[in-house]
Amino acid sequence: MSVNKEKYLELLKELGDRAVLVAVSKTKPATDIQELYDLGQRDFGENYVQELVDKAAELPQDIRWHFIGHLQSNKVKYLAPFVHLVHGVDSASLLKEIDKQGAKTNRVIDCLLQVHIAQEETKFGFDQQELEQLHVTGLNNIAIRGMMGMASFSNHTEVVRQEFNILKQLFDKYNGKFGERHAFTTLSMGMSGDYPVALAEGSTMIRVGSLLFGERNMKH
Ligand SMILES: *Cc1c(COP(=O)(O)O)cnc(C)c1O
Repeated sequence: MSVNKEKYLELLKELGDRAVLVAVSKTKPATDIQELYDLGQRDFGENYVQELVDKAAELPQDIRWHFIGHLQSNKVKYLAPFVHLVHGVDSASLLKEIDKQGAKTNRVIDCLLQVHIAQEETKFGFDQQELEQLHVTGLNNIAIRGMMGMASFSNHTEVVRQEFNILKQLFDKYNGKFGERHAFTTLSMGMSGDYPVALAEGSTMIRVGSLLFGERNMKH
């Protein structure tokens, strides 16, 4: 299946300037990314470090690459020189490593704190207690730009709505709390299946894959 350009244009119209669209291109070939790029899309999201690095090398330099997967500390160094936004920061130690690699490449790397909002056990992220204990003093090469979360995979819209609502409340609560340098700009929530609910609950950035690029195989 190839890129759904009609859906893309429709989605842009629907979003207007309410939210930024990150096109999630994991497992999809660079040619698919180029197709959306040619329509004007610049924000792309990937889940796997090696895949992102490979694609970045062969695609236009002005693409803004979002890392949306679970990031292992030992791989931060590969992304640090160019990544636009790291969505899935889920521990203080990862934040420290991003800061360290940011210093090495002379950058301030924008990050989102991933917050655990779903009922499922498997999803990564800070819980509320961990957020409360997070301190970022002395980390001069990262900037916390907001939060990211994934709702339960559920057909019950109310469950999903409540989870997004909790994330929005945490976003408002912690905005400004980490210091002046860390003013929040971005609430990353909503995917192909639940972005309308996310938008209604205050999302400013949605991460949409299969709706644009077609279904992926099961493992992803
Ligand atoms: C894969 C993925 C998406 C996109 O999912 P779709 O359902 O294909 O839109 C969004 N966010 C994260 C964190 C993902 O891993």
